[in-house]
Amino acid sequence: STPVATFCALSKAAKSGVLLKGGDHLETLAKVKTVAFDKTGTITTGEFVVNEFRTLHADLSLKTLLYWVASIESKSSHPMAKAVVDYAQLYSIKPQPEAVMEFHNYPGEGIHGKLESQDIYIGNRRIALRARSETMPEIESGASGGKTRGYVYCNGTLAGWFSLSDACRSGTFQAVNELKSMNILTVMLTGDSHAAAAQAQNQLQEAIEIVRAELLPEDKARIIKELEAPVAMIGDGINDAPALATADIGISMGLDGSALATETGNIILMSNDIRKVPEVIKLARAAYNKVI
Ligand code: ADP
Ligand code: MG
Repeated sequence: STPVATFCALSKAAKSGVLLKGGDHLETLAKVKTVAFDKTGTITTGEFVVNEFRTLHADLSLKTLLYWVASIESKSSHPMAKAVVDYAQLYSIKPQPEAVMEFHNYPGEGIHGKLESQDIYIGNRRIALRARSETMPEIESGASGGKTRGYVYCNGTLAGWFSLSDACRSGTFQAVNELKSMNILTVMLTGDSHAAAAQAQNQLQEAIEIVRAELLPEDKARIIKELEAPVAMIGDGINDAPALATADIGISMGLDGSALATETGNIILMSNDIRKVPEVIKLARAAYNKVI
C-alpha cells in the first residue's frame, strides 16, 4: 500500500468509528483468514435478564440467598452481575458490597466472597471445584433452554442456582454472513455452557462455522494459535485479554469495554456494531490491492 492509500483507509475507518492503532494493522487485516468472536457481550448484547432464581434448601429463603448473591455480584463487572443486582431490586433487596469480604474474581468461572459467615462461590459448573464441592452440576443440555446458568455454593454445598438470558446483537447475523462471503472462517469462543453457545448459534441460523464452549480465557488464546492465520479476535474485554493479545489482530468493542481491552486491542470499535468488522477488512483489502 502507498502511504496515501494507507492514510485514506485509516481516516475512512476512523470516520465510521473504527480506530486502528497504527497503519501496519491494515496489511494484516487485508490478509485475515479467520475471525473469532467472543460470545457474551460481543455476539450477544450482554444485557442479561434473570429468568429464574432458586434456593435448593427449605431452610434457606430465596430473599436471604438473593441478598448474599447480589451483594457479591455487586462487586463484579461481569455482564451477568448487573442482571442479578437488578433482579434483587425487584424483591426490594439492597445489595451491600461493603459487607463482602475476600472478594475474588475467577475469569471464565465466576466469583467468590464471604459474608454473614458464609463462604460463597457463584459461577458456572467449573466453580464447583473452587468451592470444593462434591456436586458438580451435569453438563447442561438443551433441557436448560439454552439459558446461561449461575450456580451458588455456600460453605461447600450447592445452595441454589439461577438462569439468565440475553440476545444476539442485531447486526451479528449480517456480519457473519458478510465474512463468509469474503472467504473468511468464523469461530465462536465462549466461557459459557455448550447449551448457551448452541442457543446463540441457533439465533444466528447456525451461520458460524466453528463453535467452542466452556473455555477459560487461556483456552481461547490456545485455540487462536491453532486457527489459520492471520486471525482476528473480537471481544468485549471481559475475560478476553489473553485471546485479544494472542490474535494477529485484537479488536475490542468500544466505550463500555474494560480499560484492559483498550490496552490490548489493536483496533477499537467505538460503536458496538460488529458489521464494522467486515467493513474494515474490505477497506484494508482495497488499500492493499491497489499496489499488489
Ligand atoms: P464469554 O466467553 O461468553 O464472554 P465469560 O468468559 O465472560 O463468557 O464468562 C464465562 C462464564 O463464567 C459465564 O458464562 C458465567 O457462567 C461465569 N461467570 C463469570 N463471571 C461471573 C459472575 N460475576 N457471576 C456469575 N458467573 C460468572
Ligand atoms: Mg465476553
